Amino acid sequence: MSITANIRELQAKLPPQTRLVAVSKYKPNEDIQTAYDAGQRMFGESRVQELVAKHEALPADIEWHFIGHLQKNKVKYLAPFVQLIHGVDSLQLLQQIDKEGKKNGRIIDCLLQFHIAQEETKFGLSLEEAHELLASSAFGELKHTRICGVMGMASYTDNQPQVQAEFAQLRSIFQQLQVEFFGTEPSFKEISMGMSGDYELAIAQGSTLIRVGSALFGSR
Ligand SMILES: *Cc1c(COP(=O)(O)O)cnc(C)c1O
Repeated sequence: MSITANIRELQAKLPPQTRLVAVSKYKPNEDIQTAYDAGQRMFGESRVQELVAKHEALPADIEWHFIGHLQKNKVKYLAPFVQLIHGVDSLQLLQQIDKEGKKNGRIIDCLLQFHIAQEETKFGLSLEEAHELLASSAFGELKHTRICGVMGMASYTDNQPQVQAEFAQLRSIFQQLQVEFFGTEPSFKEISMGMSGDYELAIAQGSTLIRVGSALFGSR
């Protein structure tokens, strides 16, 4: 199927609380423009240089999300325009984003990434580490970042009950943090989970942002 048909079909089946981040990493600008012309506005990239180049070349009203592992020394390239940074997994990174947010006169929206998969290799915080981060005085001093929710990646497996349990765990983490740290703050609202192979399970567990690449653009 074409990119246009893939976008339309997926958009049409999303429940109202779930939005699509089209993951366009490694894909050419033409593919992004095609998706844009089909009405898609949120795009996700995992490499800083690639994201910056695409931001410069493509329509200005695209909302660019950074979904990869962000190195502190590269935050400055994203800070002027990035819409949401999904993968924040340390106070040090958050402090760097805050510093660059200040320089750019803006508040940068971020998600805390959690380690929910069984695999050892995936990045992310534990609930305990997140508690420590959010309760710290250093976090309380940040003025140019805003934590809008949580993000996670499930195990890469055909075992659906396992994937479902991991997504349920992320939703439970979101709910606990909301109660303990964010109260009724309306900006704390995002649960970023679900990719091409598992977005249906993620939606069923309350995902508000699915990050889908290959199911839209073809394999990489
Ligand atoms: C690449 C990537 C995706 C999209 O993966 P697909 O399987 O192609 O949908 C989602 N999230 C993250 C963090 C990624 O790196």
